[in-house]
Amino acid sequence: MAELKFKPEWNDWCPGCGNFGILNAEQMAINELGLDTKKVILVSGIGCSGKTPHFFRYPITGVHTLHGRALTFASGIKLSNPLLHVIVNAGDGDQLGIGVGHFVSIGRRNISLTVIIHDNQVYGLTKGQAAPTLRRGIKTKSLPKPNINDAVNPIALAISAGYTFVARGYAYDVKHLKDLMKIAFSRKGLSLIDVLQPCPTYNDIMTKEYLDKRVYKLGADWDPVVRKEEEKEDKMAKAIIKSMEWGDKIPIGIFYQNDLVPSFEDRIADSAKSYKEIIPSYVPIHRDGKPT
Ligand code: SF4
Repeated sequence: MAELKFKPEWNDWCPGCGNFGILNAEQMAINELGLDTKKVILVSGIGCSGKTPHFFRYPITGVHTLHGRALTFASGIKLSNPLLHVIVNAGDGDQLGIGVGHFVSIGRRNISLTVIIHDNQVYGLTKGQAAPTLRRGIKTKSLPKPNINDAVNPIALAISAGYTFVARGYAYDVKHLKDLMKIAFSRKGLSLIDVLQPCPTYNDIMTKEYLDKRVYKLGADWDPVVRKEEEKEDKMAKAIIKSMEWGDKIPIGIFYQNDLVPSFEDRIADSAKSYKEIIPSYVPIHRDGKPT
């Protein structure tokens, strides 16, 4: 794990790319929370989004990993040192295409880390092929014909898989996105923020103009928080249905939040005694995150 060279003047994303908004929101969230940047680890996959750790305007530690494998690295980092804040930046193709197996299986564990999906519906780094979130029938300028595959719904998939904080942001509403990140970065458990991110170079359908007209914030009449175990199924179902709203109106905000589920670190702590019996060298991790 190497500390990235501090080069704030350098960036090779295309002008107008939504990645800039995600980067700005992330930097602001970390700053405003006052997180010790020596304890923040950014893990990225392959794609334009994978460069996010390189472009931070203050020194930070990043690991630029393999295509679809960012969550495996992130899980290992978090479990080896639960005191670290682990944030994953990855594209929709990276997480919901090649990495979808990891995206689903990590949900069962509820490891305390945040997954940020840069959701632009295309593989931007490789000239704009259809990514898993591009809807059937849509023809972006890189496709010879309309897309014939149905789209993955990241919100519905994450809720079904067990993620305990599931939200959608918009790359051009940086303040709102920053506020979502602040909640995700400061909670226990697995968080997903799916960020609608225009790719002005290859997606000529889901543009800034398209999203500006349609995006709206979930309001005070929307309550995504599970406060009692009995509420869980109802809140999950409502959130999944809400996540299917797409057309003239596209909601952003928190779809689902369940802080009642124990994190994977806490589950390990609870079973530490038996672990130690099986593996004498095993070092149990106490609930406050410090090795005992
Ligand atoms: Fe952004 Fe698209 Fe350019 Fe990649 S190709 S940097 S996603 S605008």
